[in-house]
Amino acid sequence: MGAEREFRCREAVRLLLLAFERALTDDEERDLKGHLAACGHCDNYDRQLRFLSAAASRFAR
Ligand SMILES: [Zn+2]
Repeated sequence: MGAEREFRCREAVRLLLLAFERALTDDEERDLKGHLAACGHCDNYDRQLRFLSAAASRFAR
């Protein structure tokens, strides 16, 4: 069970990072959203990534 949870978190993080490079497919997006709803750790990571990318785009101007 621990290994399964870890795999799902790693997969979720992979999709979070992938989303910066291209649009996710419907399947990927559904899997990611489902995982974020169930996993506070990854949900928090998602927020941090969005905050950092917003801050980075401000500094890039
Ligand atoms: Zn997770």
